[in-house]
Amino acid sequence: MANVKDFSVEEKLTALVRLQKIESKLDEIQILKGELPMEVSDLEDEIQGLNARQTRVEEEINGIKEFIEQKKEAIKESEGLIKKYDKQSTNVKNNREFEAINKELEMQQLEIKLSEKHIKDANEEIAEKAVLLEKAKKNVAAKENVLKGKKDELEKIIGATEKEEKHYNKLSSEAREKVDERLLLSYDRIRKNYRNGLGVVPVLRDACGGCFNAIPPQKQSEIKQRKKIIICENCGRILVDSELNDAVEIG
Ligand SMILES: [Zn+2]
Repeated sequence: MANVKDFSVEEKLTALVRLQKIESKLDEIQILKGELPMEVSDLEDEIQGLNARQTRVEEEINGIKEFIEQKKEAIKESEGLIKKYDKQSTNVKNNREFEAINKELEMQQLEIKLSEKHIKDANEEIAEKAVLLEKAKKNVAAKENVLKGKKDELEKIIGATEKEEKHYNKLSSEAREKVDERLLLSYDRIRKNYRNGLGVVPVLRDACGGCFNAIPPQKQSEIKQRKKIIICENCGRILVDSELNDAVEIG
């Protein structure tokens, strides 16, 4: 293979136009996929976040259940003590002792009431969280449904375009090797800057085929001579004459 540097300007431009045509085909495939790949990954992130939140709520509910169990244990303990004090109160020796036992009894009854109140509050809290959890689960299910639809759609497009994409990707890397390095750099830079991905364009109806800025006749004839690389003064795209552009085939 001849060194790319030895190519004439015309050959360099031809190689570049060919690359542009191949990569425009790849752009078309990307347009077909549209926002789908991004939408899919956004949804996946969102679902992951929702699942994490769900797990957190479940853990909170478990924590509250544990708390309820502790309170139930405390009630049992108090009940045991009450039984013991009841027995003791039947054979007290004096008033002072009787009062002391009575005080203990009252305290344990109070403890039980307090625990019962705690359990009631905790159960209410669980009920609230269960509602939240149910909502979150429904939300996740709905999102998963949307995700599935989008994934199916994307897979269909990928299935239909995969072969084509592979083909053009291969052609593109082959074509890149045949393009002058400096031209390739500016082509890539321009392509990145414009939504339509055009880095090299033909002169069409006396205007730049990229930005439609008028090209003066003198410049047009220079372009037609194919002796110099000429760029559009307005948009910076590399210009070729439409004959050269039309003659290039992807193959
Ligand atoms: Zn232009």
